Amino acid sequence: MHSINGLYKNDHPQLDAILLSHPHQDHYGLLSYVHPEIPIYLSKGCRKLIEISHFFGQTPCRLDNAITVESWKTFQIGDFNITPYLVDHSGFDALAFLIESGGKKIFYSGDFRGHGRKNILFDNLIKHPPQEIDYLVLEGSMIGRNTGEYKTEQDIENRLTGLFKDGFLFFIACSSQNIDRIVSIYRACVKTNRIFVIDPYSAYILDQLKDISERIPQYDWGNNIKIFFVPNRYSEKMAEDKSLFKFKSAKITYSEIQKLKNKIVIKDTYLTRKIFAKKKDIAGSRLVFSMWEGYLPEAKPFWEKHKIPVIHVHTSGHAYIEDLQKFVKAIKPKCIIPNHTFYPEEYEKIFDGKIMHIDDKQAIDLLFSHSS
Ligand SMILES: [Zn+2]
Repeated sequence: MHSINGLYKNDHPQLDAILLSHPHQDHYGLLSYVHPEIPIYLSKGCRKLIEISHFFGQTPCRLDNAITVESWKTFQIGDFNITPYLVDHSGFDALAFLIESGGKKIFYSGDFRGHGRKNILFDNLIKHPPQEIDYLVLEGSMIGRNTGEYKTEQDIENRLTGLFKDGFLFFIACSSQNIDRIVSIYRACVKTNRIFVIDPYSAYILDQLKDISERIPQYDWGNNIKIFFVPNRYSEKMAEDKSLFKFKSAKITYSEIQKLKNKIVIKDTYLTRKIFAKKKDIAGSRLVFSMWEGYLPEAKPFWEKHKIPVIHVHTSGHAYIEDLQKFVKAIKPKCIIPNHTFYPEEYEKIFDGKIMHIDDKQAIDLLFSHSS
């Protein structure tokens, strides 16, 4: 088995492009090993979030040669016509790609779901699927995983709204880059007249994305969103480049939070919870854990030690099996290629039609010489 010639930094670059579907580390985490002259095609939101992660030292990936593309606008790379499709996923501004060349068509699903805040994208794709697809490269993250208690992102918003009606101080653990979830939390806060107290890092991310969607909550939206200036390394980084000061107008102090306790939902960070614990102000609060259950064992000991109930409220960023099946039925590909799954062998049981398994590092020519 050999690696891909002309891909890596120390090679002579021989690739025309890399198509990047969305800004999750399991998709772009190794890009810093790629030759910097190879262009990366990606959405505007994807580019922003990777640049932010680089700024905060979370990834060495620098995107020296990035080309932003727009959803449903076909572009050309050599003999390939490529059309990005905006999809619903927990990763922001995520794309699927239709790749056409030499009379053949590949559809790469990227990571997607049909139950998020942008589920209309899934419904539209089912109604107007790309036609005559030869190969569907299909994610299968949910194969072998439990669906969980909450089916949709709307269920999350409803459950949070119910919880926030009770008079406790709520900590909420979630990813600052899961914008759908941030919106759900913010909306639940508005409905229950609570203040969503975020950290400067989250405020920075939301601010950077404000040109992409006007529905993303912003620090200067008024009474339901404030910033607690937790002095962690992200805030220090923002102080260094002076971006921190922009957010001063939305500041809420520790003592103000204490006074308004039962009206607060505060974004959990390592240092925030430590500060509250140190001042002995954590008793009687609640933790809403709004991330994948796999991260729960790591989080639990702190809250258990302080006898704080942990409430798990989460829904997956990935399509359920029944939605994957709907997707396949609508697209009717000649062949499905399993991707992004721990159980590729299950595809034969779940989907009708031909399945083609490709091993890691196995190069395959789908468009020009392989006959299906
Ligand atoms: Zn993803």
